[in-house]
Amino acid sequence: MRFVLASANPHKAAEIAEIMADERGIELIARPADVPDVDETELTLQGNALLKARALVVATGLAAIADDTGLEVDALGGAPGVISARYAGEPSDAVANRAKLLYELSLQLLGDRSARFRTVAVAVFPDGREVIAHGVCEGVIGLDERGEGGFGYDSIFVPVEGNGRTFAEMTSDEKHAVSHRGRAFRALQTLL
Ligand code: IMP
Repeated sequence: MRFVLASANPHKAAEIAEIMADERGIELIARPADVPDVDETELTLQGNALLKARALVVATGLAAIADDTGLEVDALGGAPGVISARYAGEPSDAVANRAKLLYELSLQLLGDRSARFRTVAVAVFPDGREVIAHGVCEGVIGLDERGEGGFGYDSIFVPVEGNGRTFAEMTSDEKHAVSHRGRAFRALQTLL
């Protein structure tokens, strides 16, 4: 099976390719450069993932894979959630997003720093068939940034299954083994 990958984010595209590398029979091809990004106008991760994949199917005529991810922080009522990429405003700025999250949590009196990453991964086929998979990774938001690897919120997210390290302190394989994206795309592979 051959899929065009919707993600324009090189970090995410690389992670998805690594996670799916073991799966013989699934070939991922990069989104053609002339196909523009779609605006993520839906109010849910699943809605945005489907929006991106459907647009790519229409543009290319090929089956497409897309994902959308949000970081939910309990003390902030689930924010930033579906707007995680634009938490500190547009254009998306990972440094500003992390700084804003650490600041907002510093204002919370109860000290609850529990959080989770949630990914919805979808495959959409030219005949209209849609396959949807979910992945969740529970953790806490660290008190400050740690680690050099990863991207986005990795340096402030400490997964429950990581011996106290942030995602940015793990190897890629260690992150994929427990991450939201690893779980979502392995589940998608099983369904395909
Ligand atoms: P999106 O799926 O590209 O919309 O991601 C939403 C936001 O979450 C962006 O700010 C990403 O940088 C961030 N993000 C997505 N996946 C991860 C991850 O695995 N680690 C850290 N940040 C992530």
